Amino acid sequence: MASILSSLPGIPSGGPVRGLECRSSEEMVDFYRREFGQAPLLVLSNREPIVWEGAGALSSPPGGVSSTIHRLLGRVGGKWIALRDSAGPGLLRIPPPREASDSPGYILHRLSLDPGLREAHYAGFSNGVLWPFFHGDQGRIDASPGTFSAYVQVNRRMAGKVVESLATLSPGAVWIHDYQLALVAREIRRMAGNTLPPLAFFWHIPWVDIPEPSGLPWLCELVDGLLCHDRVGFQTEGYRDLFLKTVRLLHGTRVFWDGERLSVMTQAGIRTLSLGVYPVSIDPAHFDRLSRDPEGVRGAREILREAGLLKKGEEIAPYLVSVERMDYSKGFLERTAILEELFTRHPERIGTLSLLQVAPPSRQSVEAYRQYAGQVQRAVDRLNARFGRPGWTPVRTISRSLSQEVLAPLYRFASGALITATKDGMNLVAKEFLACQRGRDGVLFLSRHTGAAQTMDGLTLIDPFDAPLSARLIHQGLSLDPEIRRRKNGLALSSIERNNVFRWMRDNLRALGDFSVPVGR
Ligand code: UDP
Repeated sequence: MASILSSLPGIPSGGPVRGLECRSSEEMVDFYRREFGQAPLLVLSNREPIVWEGAGALSSPPGGVSSTIHRLLGRVGGKWIALRDSAGPGLLRIPPPREASDSPGYILHRLSLDPGLREAHYAGFSNGVLWPFFHGDQGRIDASPGTFSAYVQVNRRMAGKVVESLATLSPGAVWIHDYQLALVAREIRRMAGNTLPPLAFFWHIPWVDIPEPSGLPWLCELVDGLLCHDRVGFQTEGYRDLFLKTVRLLHGTRVFWDGERLSVMTQAGIRTLSLGVYPVSIDPAHFDRLSRDPEGVRGAREILREAGLLKKGEEIAPYLVSVERMDYSKGFLERTAILEELFTRHPERIGTLSLLQVAPPSRQSVEAYRQYAGQVQRAVDRLNARFGRPGWTPVRTISRSLSQEVLAPLYRFASGALITATKDGMNLVAKEFLACQRGRDGVLFLSRHTGAAQTMDGLTLIDPFDAPLSARLIHQGLSLDPEIRRRKNGLALSSIERNNVFRWMRDNLRALGDFSVPVGR
């Protein structure tokens, strides 16, 4: 395959990877400067990285990957284009982070859409079709007519904003995020040709096995849209390989893959891009600090009080913690079934171990989500009625979003985390929990169907589709010698430290220019 590739014109041969360390925000900025000099960065996402609170007040990003990109952009300068979620002006100047106040900050371009178009793009095609499709939940696909054309329109509008921006901004790269924006690069190329900065894309959700992709016209467009980037990143090798399989099924023998670079002969010419595996991660030191911060600890104790988990004398009752949006892919119903098994087979856990479930509402404009929230509520009520005792409730639900300042100590105080996603691109909560358990013996019970399960060592993997097995593993895990539990946590935490969010960012952006080759050259 390498010989076919090297004979294709215009494809530079890959040199050794520049091996800069990248373990902190500072090192990330250094990396960026070495890679792109003073050039700014252009970022696109569906959601805004900040929350507009009126009268010019902005609240900090809710955390995770978005906040790390926000910090990078604040330091190196550039623009972030996102669909507008709240009131306020269409353009905002976002100041640099406090610790680097002489940095340029960046411009947030908040693209407003007609509400009908926004709904058809977001609730309609993105979350009514793409989300269930790529989470292997065909039964929940709701393909209303016209939603794909809304999806294309919104991607085109975003592309238009990029092309406009390129007239005044010369970014080192354009970095596009996630399944809501998979056709932006195609539209950019249609509008502006191929003399462009490198276009990178990160696919945050799973890719699935698709036996007959050619039967789905929207999927053919989506795949060819992804091929219009210079780099596409996936969370795991498994997802990348399934994507490759789909490309091969669609393009047959016109596909060349050398383990890093993919070349496809399309009707428009040869497209060459890099396909990478970059597991999304966290800044573990940040979560460790948060978990001990006195203000967050106070907030967490308030939540525990609200949930009835602070005993007399302020002692914390043992609990497992679950944290996720109310989304069917997170396996809430499977989790209830596992607890039912646990309490049935191990009645000694009744009255002595609760589940604290933080479950903020999600995507309430999508019918499947509204129905699911009702089903979960009924299942939890049944479980609580069956096993509850005076003064003790098996499952306590907090149905609102909590800040990471409060979540971090809640992770730290827990006897374990129970993550039951039936399919999940990564699952950052698993990594956050471990970072907050540094030196402690709380056990992570992690669904094997998450990206996180593929990227860490020393894990206890459960299967949400096998309640008896999972219940047994939970019982055994909690009964293990605390020293063994601590050692397992240490092993998993070192995987997170090696593969932290700064490294994720570096790997997505490095040597991008090597792949920025115009179509058909
Ligand atoms: N999160 C939060 N408050 C909440 C619930 C979740 O800040 O009340 C954060 C959580 O800390 C994590 C993210 O939301 O960083 C969820 O990421 P994950 O990858 O686990 O799931 P996703 O929602 O992206 O599918």
